[in-house]
Amino acid sequence: MSMNARPILIIGGGVAGMTAAVEAAEVGHRVILVEKEAYLGGRVMRTHRYFPKMCPPACGFEINVRRIRQNPRIVVHTLATVEEVKGHVGNFEVRIRIRPRYVTGRPTLDNDLLERLTSERDNDFNLGMDRTKALYYPHEMAYPPLHVLDRDALSDTDAALLTEAAPEGAVDLEMTEEILTVKAGAVVVATGWKPYDAANLDHLGFGRCRNVITNVMMERLAAGNGPTAGAILRPSDGKPARNVAFVQCAGSRDENHLPYCSSVCCMGSLKQVRYLREKTDDARASVFYIDIRTVGRLEKFYQDMLADEQVEFIKGKVALIEEDTGSNDLILDVEDTLSRQTLHPRFDLVVLATGMVPNTVDTKFPDELVYDEYGFIDESTEIPGIYAAGCARHPCDVARTTKEAMAAALRSIQCQYGGD
Ligand SMILES: Cc1cc2nc3c(=O)[nH]c(=O)nc-3n(C[C@H](O)[C@H](O)[C@H](O)COP(=O)(O)OP(=O)(O)OC[C@H]3O[C@@H](n4cnc5c(N)ncnc54)[C@H](O)[C@@H]3O)c2cc1C
Repeated sequence: MSMNARPILIIGGGVAGMTAAVEAAEVGHRVILVEKEAYLGGRVMRTHRYFPKMCPPACGFEINVRRIRQNPRIVVHTLATVEEVKGHVGNFEVRIRIRPRYVTGRPTLDNDLLERLTSERDNDFNLGMDRTKALYYPHEMAYPPLHVLDRDALSDTDAALLTEAAPEGAVDLEMTEEILTVKAGAVVVATGWKPYDAANLDHLGFGRCRNVITNVMMERLAAGNGPTAGAILRPSDGKPARNVAFVQCAGSRDENHLPYCSSVCCMGSLKQVRYLREKTDDARASVFYIDIRTVGRLEKFYQDMLADEQVEFIKGKVALIEEDTGSNDLILDVEDTLSRQTLHPRFDLVVLATGMVPNTVDTKFPDELVYDEYGFIDESTEIPGIYAAGCARHPCDVARTTKEAMAAALRSIQCQYGGD
């Protein structure tokens, strides 16, 4: 029965998209998985560890990659975006644009040649906190396991070197973009989220004070494959951060920025306090919060942090962050709403807990979808044959994302046989 159905198109290859892909394919359906980056895994791949179990992101990812590799029913397109979706349930026509990778993977490239290249680019995987060669491996767990070339960053000298020294067929500098038109029976939108732009938070010093970073940057600092090999160092002088402030709701629950709660930032920061405490013995953390939201079993995580004498929780919204010019330390202006005192504590690093913005604010596909006022896909107006999962629908954690992805996979199958 399933072989007659058209493939399921999945837009986005993060946890949501990968889960929907393997679940649909393992019950016999063909899947086309379209990911705009050069690798699968989405935002979770950029975390150091993920709650509740504090596993490294490689854990779940490796299993999903194995399931994808072993399943001939799944076709993966990376560096790819969906340009258009037309039609109706059971019979969508989809146009996919695939950007050139310039690397074929056959034969593979050797490190000696890569070392000889001099052109570089900002490392977007590490949020621009370090640089890579223009021809780079996205990260150690990358799937597909292929290098990618940033053609704009490649100098003429390096282009000539590649032409001369790369094994025949390994690099194709003339590769062009490709447009594919495919048929699909159903569509899963799993395009996820991006961090709220902290540059909008001038009062909190981002961009103005060198030692103010965001929660997503903290994940990369703590990660062994990050820009500091896992050491939590101050950007201004590379010294270990020993006294760190975590500023909750940085722009969230704020009419001027993101009026909603992103639901994961409290747990995100508690997790990062734990990174700090585990990595630096005498480190101190202060968490400035409006409310701490740790539901269900996650409350235990919060209670453990409360019991740590090196961690303090101050109920109050930070009004201003200034930099001390000599030391690059940060001085906060905050009212402790419980004691009613105005405080001016000093820290050597500040981490802003910025919220999640749906990627659907930039790319609205398919046309028929309805979005809420913040750009998330409106859950109440689903269209037969088109389903959303994970952070494309609302801010949520990995556990909820995977459940929704399974549901979207199931509905994508059911709808092709008359159900919805
Ligand atoms: C600081 C922080 C820490 C967090 N830590 C945890 C944690 O410890 N535990 C936990 O459970 N959750 C955590 N989360 C939440 C977690 O990141 C999300 O639950 C998870 O990323 C949701 O997965 P997703 O697949 O919906 O989205 P994403 O991870 O964003 O994946 C979406 C994918 O779609 C791709 N894409 C986007 N647009 C397009 C397009 N137009 N075409 C093709 N592809 C596209 C993207 O490149 C990406 O690969 C954290 C969040 C934050 C902010």
